[in-house]
Amino acid sequence: MTFEDLGLSEDILKAVREKGYTTPSPIQEKAIPHILNGKDILASAQTGTGKTAGFTLPMLHDLAATKKEGKRPIRALILTPTRELAAQVYENVREYSVHLDIKSAVIFGGVKAKAQITTLRRGVDVLVATPGRLLDLENQGALSLKRVKIFVLDEADRMLDMGFLRDIKKVISLIPEERQNLMFSATFSKDIKALAHTILKNPVSVEA
Ligand code: AMP
Repeated sequence: MTFEDLGLSEDILKAVREKGYTTPSPIQEKAIPHILNGKDILASAQTGTGKTAGFTLPMLHDLAATKKEGKRPIRALILTPTRELAAQVYENVREYSVHLDIKSAVIFGGVKAKAQITTLRRGVDVLVATPGRLLDLENQGALSLKRVKIFVLDEADRMLDMGFLRDIKKVISLIPEERQNLMFSATFSKDIKALAHTILKNPVSVEA
């Protein structure tokens, strides 16, 4: 199987080639067609499996294919447990979208919010965020999640370990019910399964 077989647009394939990838990883091969089909996904995947491209490439394909509006509401939200992971995922989003008319941003705590707020004001299609800063800025009216159509929960098990369950539930209450959900976790405890049940609709399960 090649990236070309997965149904991704030429502008995305070009970015993938520039990254030097030749073949999709197992998780990419399994998840990407379902995500392009609009399905919810419950993926069992550790770091190093290529999971980030697994959700980012089809997400960007979908966003680039749909009409952009003047003000660029946040249409895709990627929630990560730590700022390191947020920064890393954001870097991936940027690299894969170099040939697309897609704007992205990352927000996390521990740094001043001012620059993040300025970036958000200019409009972003894809937002990568950690839960605390996201809710903080939403509460201040610096961003709205009312137009999110793709929601990614990355490293869900680490999120719960870090005590983010309440924040995740709050975020869910701020995004539209009609949306596509992609949930990634390395492990599947009872709590993770329960969370998956509350977030996902008829998910396809995939394993790396
Ligand atoms: P991740 O599991 O998303 O953290 O990705 C692990 C590493 O694999 C990252 O450095 C990616 O750039 C790289 N990667 C992702 N997909 C592929 C691929 N299909 N071929 C080669 N490397 C890849």
